[in-house]
Amino acid sequence: MSELPKTLTFRMPAEATMMGFRQRPTKPLLEVDRLRKTFAHAEGAAVERVSLVLGEGELLALLGPSGCGKTTTLRMIGGFEHPDEGRVLFENRDITHLTPEARGIGFVFQDYALFPHLSVLDNVKFGLRKLSRSEAKARAEEMLRLVGLAHLGKRRPHQLSGGQQQRVALARALAVAPKLILLDEPFSNLDAKMRVETRQEVRKLLKATGSAGILVTHDQEEALALADRIAVMDHGRVVQVGTPDEIYSNPVSEFVANFIGRSNILRGTADGMHVQTAFGSLPLSRAANGAVALSVRPEQIMLEPDQNSGATIVGREFRGHDQIYWVQDGDQSMVVISGPGAQHPIGTRVKLRICDCVVPLT
Ligand code: ADP
Ligand code: MG
Repeated sequence: MSELPKTLTFRMPAEATMMGFRQRPTKPLLEVDRLRKTFAHAEGAAVERVSLVLGEGELLALLGPSGCGKTTTLRMIGGFEHPDEGRVLFENRDITHLTPEARGIGFVFQDYALFPHLSVLDNVKFGLRKLSRSEAKARAEEMLRLVGLAHLGKRRPHQLSGGQQQRVALARALAVAPKLILLDEPFSNLDAKMRVETRQEVRKLLKATGSAGILVTHDQEEALALADRIAVMDHGRVVQVGTPDEIYSNPVSEFVANFIGRSNILRGTADGMHVQTAFGSLPLSRAANGAVALSVRPEQIMLEPDQNSGATIVGREFRGHDQIYWVQDGDQSMVVISGPGAQHPIGTRVKLRICDCVVPLT
């Protein structure tokens, strides 16, 4: 994007070292301890015993389907919703009962919540009332420069694109240099291309300013691309926390295996680190015993034509960089992702081979 300041230009080597960031940091900034929230007239709790730990400067994605309790969790951390039970500790201080303003935590709302009657610059200045007028102006201008909008300070929000408004909201939240910033589906109003560009800018901005972030999203790709760690939520509960790599390669349940990427679910009988399946004996990613469900990623399966096989290609999608095959083998349906090389038409009989360890699910 042409408006992106030079200091934030995307550089691959920096991202390559990002793996270091993705380790869980040692110093906790925020501790969420068994938060619970029930709404009147609702069946069951919207949030049920949610615990999370966030390190300084860390970026955590709260990921899950619509209605699973992400926003409610975020609002309790921000102080906009009061928990029935549980505590929120920020820098070792119990902030559970403080007002949002007293917490020192930034919040970017889903609809940005910019003041329509104020200029872009005045929107960013809004939280800086403690500074002198000249200091506040200098700081707001600095923040607008950081998000690449220095030249648009005089405009009103409605004269900006969705992506630009999003950056103004971010600049406003970051202007007070919060140690933590909460973002609720910040990219949902942007089109697909803008979303991909903007999410990397947001990551760079947070890393550049040193603010930690919690990002609520229902988009697994966004969470995988952006976060140091992901907390997966389902029905009000956190069901798994880990780095994107851990969550993708070692999902704990069928829900996680299918919510984050695609998965084939097989049945088998496990004996320690191996499992007997219709595809023969396979190594397991972690020990299990007895009857188990297994997750196998589509890219972990090799497919080759074999006239004598009982499995048949029943569907195919060419995607340029790879292709998806749907294969039926008796009762078992399988999804396979292959490289762009050899292409096999629908109806081809194929042999499937699983070429990696498989994941036992709970
Ligand atoms: P998410 O952000 O994951 O989509 P929410 O936290 O917004 O989910 O909502 C979780 C559940 O709580 C949903 O069933 C939702 O309908 C309910 N809920 C959220 N806010 C309220 C409210 N103010 N009053 C009643 N029910 C609510
Ligand atoms: Mg929500």
